[in-house]
Amino acid sequence: MSTFQAPKGTYDLIPPASAKYLAVRDAISAPLKNSGYGYIETPGFENVELFSRGVGESTDIVSKEMYAFETKGGDKLALRPEGTASVLRAALEANLHKAGNLPVKLWYSGSYYRYERPQKGRYRHFSQVGAEAIGAEDPALDAELIILADQAYRSLGLRQFRILLNSLGDKECRPVYRDALQGFLRGLELDDDTRRRIEINPLRVLDDKRPEVQKQLVGAPMLRDYLCDACKAYHEEVRELLTAAGVAYEDDEKLVRGLDYYTRSTFEFVHDGLGSQSAVGGGGRYDGLSEMIGGPALPSVGWALGVDRTVLALEAEGIELELPATTSVFAVPLGEEARRVLFGVVTELRRAGVAADFSYGGKGLKGAMKSANRSGARYAIVAGERDLAEGVVQLKDMESGDQSPVALADAVTAIRERLA
Ligand code: AMP
Repeated sequence: MSTFQAPKGTYDLIPPASAKYLAVRDAISAPLKNSGYGYIETPGFENVELFSRGVGESTDIVSKEMYAFETKGGDKLALRPEGTASVLRAALEANLHKAGNLPVKLWYSGSYYRYERPQKGRYRHFSQVGAEAIGAEDPALDAELIILADQAYRSLGLRQFRILLNSLGDKECRPVYRDALQGFLRGLELDDDTRRRIEINPLRVLDDKRPEVQKQLVGAPMLRDYLCDACKAYHEEVRELLTAAGVAYEDDEKLVRGLDYYTRSTFEFVHDGLGSQSAVGGGGRYDGLSEMIGGPALPSVGWALGVDRTVLALEAEGIELELPATTSVFAVPLGEEARRVLFGVVTELRRAGVAADFSYGGKGLKGAMKSANRSGARYAIVAGERDLAEGVVQLKDMESGDQSPVALADAVTAIRERLA
């Protein structure tokens, strides 16, 4: 029998590279934790209807890319393709919005699933860190989220990313624009698929990347010209707050994004070193989503940043994260007695918070020192029968190669002092 492989469009995170993913998740969540966002975790699957109603029946995410299935008990479920609908569902279910403390600010981190055509940067299983601020209409909240994403990317050392910003209008002005756009699009030479899209989700046609479509879109009505006064003022305030915070952004009138629930502010973070899958994160305001999934009116805003693509962006910029050494001390026992004694020392070191590892499997000195080297440890402790008879262990500095005996009884203290 041949061995198994990870399913198509997925990959495994394996040490040492996996440490980068953890560091990226930490870097993205740090500014959120520092800004009043509480951690939320929801199931990996939900009732399929949450997504078809929330994300939108007409979106690719729901119509083509969702892993939907029926359980043995007859429940219709789907692996989550995105985080916002689930987080809002959970907040409503727990009545967080009724605790009299709006906005409810939440952050999350997890796996998402989309049945996409795999390529570099586009997977069927990927991970996101996201944030949602639920139940307040305030341009400062939109600005806050964009500023925190900018801060997260910068803390990782990323520089070649750009922030694209647009307003999609609200339930007053968007329908008027939608009609005007549909009128324009119906007069173009387009294939059947695109014609269908005009009727279901005309804004997505603006997003079509094909040059023959883009050419015809010159002169299309632009949403900017249809925004109502309230949306215009709101958008202007978001822009001013970003500028005041020193966060550069680009106005992108064509930015519509692939989810139906967005209103007013929409934004995307793109990285210029990633080729076609350049979006490293995205988000926006979704004032109507709560009502779409059966809740009260709760204007909200959020984003999700892709962990996989952020790691690719780091590689594209040649950034090596300074990751803490996984092992500080590596123990090399020579013989049975030393094995018991040094295992005790390693246990004590670990309890004292020192990252320590051990040569397992009865290796000889040469093999064990090779493991010590590979571990990246700063110090090795080596002991054989003679050392133990003298009540010492040898402490070897792995950088200089210097080795000196220390009393076994003082070994833990001596190592901690040297590491400090
Ligand atoms: P979206 O919900 O489509 O706006 O996605 C938000 C972010 O998640 C994107 O900017 C990507 O960084 C990431 N992402 C979305 N889909 C995928 C995928 N199939 N593979 C890898 N990352 C993805």
